[in-house]
Amino acid sequence: MRILTSLLMLAAWPLSAQETPTSSSGKRVAITIDDLPCAHCAEGTWRQVTDDILSTLKAHRVPAIGFVNEGKLYREGLLDSARFQLLERWLEAGMELGNHTFAHRGATRTTVAEFEEDVVKGEQLLRPLMEQHGRTLRYFRHPFLQTGATPHRRDTLNALLGELGYTIAPVTFDNDEYIYAFCYEHAKRAKDDSLMHALVEGYQTYMSKSVLFHEAEAGSFFGRDIAHILLIHANTLNATQLDGLLTWFGQEGYSFITLEEALKDPCYQLPEATTPYGFSWIRRWQLAAGNKPPWPPEIQPEVQQRYDALRK
Ligand SMILES: [Zn+2]
Repeated sequence: MRILTSLLMLAAWPLSAQETPTSSSGKRVAITIDDLPCAHCAEGTWRQVTDDILSTLKAHRVPAIGFVNEGKLYREGLLDSARFQLLERWLEAGMELGNHTFAHRGATRTTVAEFEEDVVKGEQLLRPLMEQHGRTLRYFRHPFLQTGATPHRRDTLNALLGELGYTIAPVTFDNDEYIYAFCYEHAKRAKDDSLMHALVEGYQTYMSKSVLFHEAEAGSFFGRDIAHILLIHANTLNATQLDGLLTWFGQEGYSFITLEEALKDPCYQLPEATTPYGFSWIRRWQLAAGNKPPWPPEIQPEVQQRYDALRK
């Protein structure tokens, strides 16, 4: 199976430009990976998924950040030391870690107190772990990218996160890759090779379309290339496909930067529209400026239906 997936990595990945991209094109992206240590991973695969992702990041010299759900470190209420050690592997690989809450509760349907509890509970092990490694826990990623459904709620949550010492990690290259990943995980467990193949092809086409859509939207809104932030998840699909994805970014002229470097782009100081949904920050800026942006590329209907059926 690993041979099959290796071959698949070489498939699709349609290149966009007529012009030849170069590394001096100035395009930059920070790679952020959510739902650590492992999103919907089968028992016994967490270590392999982690090692595959980390070795690929290192091979491409990507200074990535992983966002942790501490709740995933527990099994039946007990801390699983093997899962905890996966976080150490991220730090030992030179990557940064951030807080993604304990239980991955979205801000739209929780009270301020519930949100705060989930944030604080999400750093009980993470903050001391970072300190042991000489690092400071400093970034927060909202679950579902829900940042507060009203201006007042958003401002309250932002102030709370600031008091707790967090810088918010926005996303420009947003996507629904987790839908492909969830279907892929199930196809893998069912040993359905042809479905896995189809999902990989669909993922590659979807991801390239999604990135190029957001790149074009930001380009026309700002009149320049901004420092982008990609969101993907720590899952089995990305463990096999990250090499192809990062190679594609390189072919499109991107270099890989830290989240800290990306956030120096003044675009991240712009006002954002409030939304109960997990929109890309590009869409939030466009809406705040009174624009009516188009919707991003959609997941293939058959994949969406498969996902919906599996989630029932
Ligand atoms: Zn998440």
